Amino acid sequence: MSKVIDLTHRIERGLPVYPGDAGAHLSADSVHGFESDGTPVAHVGRVNMGLHNGTHMDAGYHFLPRGFTIDTTPLERCVGPAVLVDLPGLDNKAEIRPSHFERFESDLAHHRRAVIKTGWSSRWRETDYFTGHPFVGPEAARWLLDRQVNLIGLDFPSIDHPPFETHLLWLGAGASILENLTNLDQITASVFTLIALPLPFAGMDGSPVRAVALADQGAIKRD
Ligand SMILES: [Zn+2]
Repeated sequence: MSKVIDLTHRIERGLPVYPGDAGAHLSADSVHGFESDGTPVAHVGRVNMGLHNGTHMDAGYHFLPRGFTIDTTPLERCVGPAVLVDLPGLDNKAEIRPSHFERFESDLAHHRRAVIKTGWSSRWRETDYFTGHPFVGPEAARWLLDRQVNLIGLDFPSIDHPPFETHLLWLGAGASILENLTNLDQITASVFTLIALPLPFAGMDGSPVRAVALADQGAIKRD
């Protein structure tokens, strides 16, 4: 049996959110108790949160009025082998360039899913988490798209900073982004099985995901 590694931040009160977002609110429409005739009252929870809070997936519509929506994201890209691109020691706001990907090129072109591990997720509750993170430069995004990569996962909150050139480029190409992944340090294989499924919110721009890595059988051997 595969070991399942959870790559998802817990959704809880006080969840760190992108500056300006309202945040996540967990409440209940009804709480445990009993009707006057003794019938039990079920607890029914309610969550009010942004679709880009916590660990989530972006769809094209997030930035592009004619972009693809989250409910039309191909599920095939959300499940399967992903390449762990280990980039330790990047400076704050460092640009990730094509040269960072070169040694992973054959795996990336083969598996078409890239998960970038920078270690930034350890700063999840730090004040600069949403502002000081590394970013994927447009040249690197083009390099990946040229190799047919259509899913990029990040252990930081956003693929780039304003004015969001990489977001526009990447989503405009019909590719997907996973943001705010965590626990990537628990993955030991260079290629692992990733499962990160968005909920099919009709016509919407993103969705929280439960992202996991399968550790054992998921260590794909290169041919
Ligand atoms: Zn997002």
